[in-house]
Amino acid sequence: MPLYDFFCPACGEVFEDLCPPHGPDPACPGCGGQVRRLVSVGRGYRADADWIASVTRVVDKDNPAPHVQAFLADPSRAAYRAWMRGEKLRPLEPGEGIRRQDAAYAACETARREALARFAARRLCAA
Ligand SMILES: [Zn+2]
Repeated sequence: MPLYDFFCPACGEVFEDLCPPHGPDPACPGCGGQVRRLVSVGRGYRADADWIASVTRVVDKDNPAPHVQAFLADPSRAAYRAWMRGEKLRPLEPGEGIRRQDAAYAACETARREALARFAARRLCAA
């Protein structure tokens, strides 16, 4: 099965997963939402280049930072990695799942868990 990159428009999660080319997409590991398939990494360089070029469309072109301008000038995988580092983004390590270190994500997770707990409590009351 090819390896795909997925993007979740609801929570911004980006992750890789193996799945059949025409099979159903996995649910977002961050929020369970519907994800968009970005690329088949196992299908050669061309798809990879297309995907990286597509990332440049969401890059802030007015940002004068060197890692941004270098990536826009040359959307290669190396420049993409440098841009990720510059933006303090990084791909998930294998087996890492949704674990994140940053405080904003932790706050988001806490809010989500509290909302789910309230939802569960309401359902118990209604039952
Ligand atoms: Zn999500």
